[in-house]
Amino acid sequence: MIKTQILNAMLVGVVILILAPILMADNLDEFMPVRGFCIAAPRAKDLDPFIAFIKDELVPRRINTLILRVDYNFQFESHPELRDADALSKGQVKQLVETCRANGIRVIPQINLLGHQSWASTVGNLLRVYPDFDETPHVKMPEKYQWPNPDGLYCKSYCPLHPKVHDVVFALMDEICDVFEADAFHAGMDEVFYIGDDKCPRCSGRDKAELFAGEVRTLRDQLAKKGRALWIWGDRLLDGKTTGLGVWEASFNNTHRAIDMIPKDVMICDWHYERPDQTAVYFAMKGFKVVTCPFRNPKVAVTQVQDIAKFRANSTPAMKERFQGMVQTVWSDAGQFLQRDYKGADSDLTKTTPWNCFRLMAQEILKLSQLD
Ligand SMILES: [Zn+2]
Repeated sequence: MIKTQILNAMLVGVVILILAPILMADNLDEFMPVRGFCIAAPRAKDLDPFIAFIKDELVPRRINTLILRVDYNFQFESHPELRDADALSKGQVKQLVETCRANGIRVIPQINLLGHQSWASTVGNLLRVYPDFDETPHVKMPEKYQWPNPDGLYCKSYCPLHPKVHDVVFALMDEICDVFEADAFHAGMDEVFYIGDDKCPRCSGRDKAELFAGEVRTLRDQLAKKGRALWIWGDRLLDGKTTGLGVWEASFNNTHRAIDMIPKDVMICDWHYERPDQTAVYFAMKGFKVVTCPFRNPKVAVTQVQDIAKFRANSTPAMKERFQGMVQTVWSDAGQFLQRDYKGADSDLTKTTPWNCFRLMAQEILKLSQLD
């Protein structure tokens, strides 16, 4: 009898040991559904170290969402003229997809749409190949870029009302989602300074909020045809003047009114790097799911994790579900990040680097989930 009891107790122990990771996973997903990492997709030469990074660093920290900024770093078949010179092949993308699938990580590819069609003095592939799509063709790219400049040029935008632009954009979006086997797509759409330009024959005089919302809806509807969700950065939906958030992390050209014009199933990536601004509450109260995105300040990231945890704990069930979690953003390319921030890191976790920020963010999520 006693032997049976001991045996039973041992059996229960074994079962708990086997189930523990599953029970923990459930608890963690309940505590913070999205635990993400966002970075430019690696160049072909950095693919192997990046895959090792996923396995060695993202998986043990229980990251379940990887946003990869692909842009033109893929050998598109629908539009080969838009490929970068050293773009990833389909086989290389499949290696990333397989690694993530095997480790329970959802991959969300990104192509910057609407804004960010140039960087410094270089025009991006879309407007270089299709200059007709340029919202401001009269703004010439400077030889040496500097900010501020008389044109107010940060990045070029495409014209959302150009009759041909969506033929190209939809093909890219559909193809990148197919190859990444993705159920969501990130369209960027941050920092759009050029929109509804006075000289654009299609957009001039139109309401900038309506133009922005129209483009969000157009992209969202195309993705929805195949059951895919649209993710965007949140900054254009915040009023930069009233909030004091300024011209970068919020809008100074009235696009913020678009928040009441876009479908509620668009996922908002709410980035704040210098302070833990609590704008996630605003997005959630407007009916959107939201993730908070830090960059390189570990202290800010830790507070943001605590805030999301607090919001989830102290909300109605309807609101709780909207506070989805955290996504670390890295703004160097994957190769540079791995070399400089990751491999070159020392033990000082307080330094403001994306790698430190990520480590402390992930640590705080795991720590608080165990207290929960
Ligand atoms: Zn236009």
